Amino acid sequence: PRLRTADSALRDRALAVVPGGVYGHMTVLQQMPPSYPQFYSRGAGARVWDVDDNEYIDFMCAFGPMIAGYANPVIDAAAAAQQVKGDALAGPSRHFVELAELLVDTVAHADWAMFAKNGTDATSIAVVTARAETGRTKLLKARKAYHGANAWFTPNPAGVTAADRADIIEFEYNDLASLEAAVAEAEGDVAAIIVPPFRHDALYDQELATAEFARGVRAIATRIGAAFILDEVRTGFRLDMAGAWEQFGVRPDMTAFSKGIANGYSLAAVVGGQAYKEAAASIYVTGSFWMGGVAMAAAVATLTLLRDTNGIRTMNAAGSAFRTGLQSQAAAHGFGLVQTGPVVMPFMRFDDDAELRQVFAFTDAAVRRGVLLHPWHNMFFSAAHTLDDVATALERTDEAFAETRSLFPL
Ligand code: PMP
Repeated sequence: PRLRTADSALRDRALAVVPGGVYGHMTVLQQMPPSYPQFYSRGAGARVWDVDDNEYIDFMCAFGPMIAGYANPVIDAAAAAQQVKGDALAGPSRHFVELAELLVDTVAHADWAMFAKNGTDATSIAVVTARAETGRTKLLKARKAYHGANAWFTPNPAGVTAADRADIIEFEYNDLASLEAAVAEAEGDVAAIIVPPFRHDALYDQELATAEFARGVRAIATRIGAAFILDEVRTGFRLDMAGAWEQFGVRPDMTAFSKGIANGYSLAAVVGGQAYKEAAASIYVTGSFWMGGVAMAAAVATLTLLRDTNGIRTMNAAGSAFRTGLQSQAAAHGFGLVQTGPVVMPFMRFDDDAELRQVFAFTDAAVRRGVLLHPWHNMFFSAAHTLDDVATALERTDEAFAETRSLFPL
């Protein structure tokens, strides 16, 4: 049995002084299986420890930001070297320019970069730039796709007006006919089409983009003179350092990054091509902490490390081993396990489990054995996940499947 004392005490105290106890995407922690911790004390490599000092092999990577291991010594040293000299200064540090140069070198379509703090900042900057360049209004997005927590993108209607959302028109992911219908509905007023590289909506099977869809989005945006924005906030530097749709030979006009870009230090970036550079210079976007040098130093170190060590290959090796292992264990225990999306960002669900009871029981059993999984959101691999970590995790998930089977006898 795992200790939960400190965690429950913090939850109680939080409820008294924080609205809802926790908010945003963290509210999911209140709907999780009973053994799931909410508060953590530290991380190292692919492992985290909760406030009760229970250790986990972590397949959540802080919902994406951790990409090269918690407390990565190389990245933390680069951040610390700037930290002792100051983070927020009278202006940006040299890392501002170095990071922009590195992104322009790394991301195939990028001719420029701008920085902010969160993914929502990055998608917003891209949208505002698109409107400034095109002089148009409407924004086309895929139904259920998440692009941020501002008024036009938030999935939660509380506190949001109809006017806030009036300029959004939705289409179906991987469906060019529905994208054409959205274009027609906008009557010539499309500023931007924004899409994630694959469909990763929480609670649904993930769906890779078809080559036809990727090329179609590019062709339609070019035809109508709208910006094509690729939202790589979640996928960035996990699929292809040069851009997620390079595999299709498809390049967006702008890409939004955040999450993994600085291995957990707070940073977002928008990169774009020449055609949008002047518009990007014309808009007013800023934030008190956006120029901080620490996160930019961390980002330079993160991207350099991922590139020089081929981090994506390491993630794929671990991700493939985990997917194969889980699939054969599930079959051996008589479960139909459905795993979707890239192996580095897996999503799992059980067949015939509409109310998620089996996947919750399985996640609970895994968490009690020190394997941090998620029952209805995509998970993440990092370059710090070794084949040994996967093997250890699989020994425990085998037991978790057995326990789940005992709760749901055949
Ligand atoms: N776009 C995508 C695809 C995301 O997954 C997220 C965050 N989950 C965002 C944008 C918003 O990022 P942030 O929460 O850092 O503002």
